Amino acid sequence: MSYDSNNIFARILRHEVPAKIIYEDDYALAFHDINPQAPLHVLVIPKGNYISFYDFSQNASFEETKGFYGAVKNVIDQLEIHDDGFRVLTNNGVNGGQEVPHFHLHIFAGRPLGRMIQSP
Ligand code: AMP
Repeated sequence: MSYDSNNIFARILRHEVPAKIIYEDDYALAFHDINPQAPLHVLVIPKGNYISFYDFSQNASFEETKGFYGAVKNVIDQLEIHDDGFRVLTNNGVNGGQEVPHFHLHIFAGRPLGRMIQSP
């Protein structure tokens, strides 16, 4: 599977589609999820063209990897959710339920989040 440069997050990165952006640096962009699943639901995406967590883990450089996870930490600091707690999640591929084929981390916060995975 090759990277689809017209996926919605690629278009947000190019500022072709509006988003509620809360953080941007050389490595990452963070914005509010359009369909929040918690009082606070933010997505953090790398600037490079990576399809998934696995693709990023396999192909991103050390600098991109350090930059991206550093940005995630900066977003957590900016949101001031460290003390109360939060959840970071990524969906990868079909069984993971990934809908948008640009690697993204979900950050959920704002209430106790319950069990990790719903029973089927
Ligand atoms: P996933 O299932 O992990 O691929 O999650 C994709 C997420 O992207 C979902 O939570 C959607 O609500 C969110 N989403 C889709 N389109 C947009 C958009 N234009 N702006 C912000 N979030 C979006």
